[in-house]
Amino acid sequence: MDIDHLLTTSDPVAVDALKAEACRLRDAVYGRRVFMRGLIEISNHCRNNCLYCGIRRDADRDPQGANCPPGRRLRRYRLTPQQILDCCRTGYALGFRTFVLQGGEDAWFTDEVVCGIVEAIKRQYPDCAVTLSLGERGRESFRRLRDAGADRYLLRHETADAAHYAFLHPAEMSFDHRMQCLRDLRDLGFQVGAGFMVGSPGQSLATLKKDLRFIEDFKPEMVGIGPFIPAAGTPFENERAGSVELTLRLLAIIRVLHPSVLLPATSALGTMHPRGREQAIAAGANVVMPNLSPQDTRALYSIYNNKLSTGSEAAESAADIRLRMKAIGMDVPTDRGDYRK
Ligand code: SAM
Repeated sequence: MDIDHLLTTSDPVAVDALKAEACRLRDAVYGRRVFMRGLIEISNHCRNNCLYCGIRRDADRDPQGANCPPGRRLRRYRLTPQQILDCCRTGYALGFRTFVLQGGEDAWFTDEVVCGIVEAIKRQYPDCAVTLSLGERGRESFRRLRDAGADRYLLRHETADAAHYAFLHPAEMSFDHRMQCLRDLRDLGFQVGAGFMVGSPGQSLATLKKDLRFIEDFKPEMVGIGPFIPAAGTPFENERAGSVELTLRLLAIIRVLHPSVLLPATSALGTMHPRGREQAIAAGANVVMPNLSPQDTRALYSIYNNKLSTGSEAAESAADIRLRMKAIGMDVPTDRGDYRK
């Protein structure tokens, strides 16, 4: 595959052929099926200060460090273990068989607390997979989470270029540590998710090619990519958003490079385009992650501006997604949707 050409060509025939090949490969491994994951946004507290992220530590301040006017302050929340279990109960009744617990790096969620939640979910719903996406932790912590029964872990690598990583993150965050986390997770037997934003500030053709090489070599079981969308109150709030078209093209390239990957049609795509998720499926994606979080906290998990949050009940958004997927000829099974080699 001529990646340079596919990333830059303006020939629609070449792009359509790429997407058709991506769908053919996906269907050969998984059939015409889209797997649903119930996303539960457990906390918007975060000790990190990623320059792009709307829930970063300094999100209550303006980029110069002064406090924001009250209207722009980010209200922080965290769900209780009972609220998280309630979301799972709702999700199970709606046919979800994977729950994704995602949040900022919130010290309240110690190993003990997270292990207790994972064990409770596994006890109540033994036929479900639990995915965690709680940021970087130590190997010992990951081992405890795995022993408690967590099946999968999503930790986007964000960029496979060390200098670009340093541009996107404060000095206290380390590219090497992020990559080490991914290797530890793999060693411990997690199904591992990596990924990156498309069009993040400082991204270039060269850094994208490194991302693709990393995916080809490491072969994460899942790859989450979505356009970068500026977030108010962050140092990148005035940067341009990433392109939907390039994101779709990259989804197709990733499917061709790694045919058995689980590839979500992310909500960032759905935010940028009303049919973004359908277009992602037509480019080779096969996962959707409707939101199971309580309605009153969804708007607070504001990692970027205008994040898709219908405010509708979990039942309504799950039904909406099922209808949309069926309308484009995809089946939505009640299934954990594990990785297939
Ligand atoms: N704290 C965990 C972590 O770091 O993996 C999980 C939560 S974090 C908010 C989830 C993902 O959101 C990040 O990996 C990042 O790629 C994405 N994200 C953050 N800010 C974004 C933005 N402005 N536009 C698009 N995606 C963004």
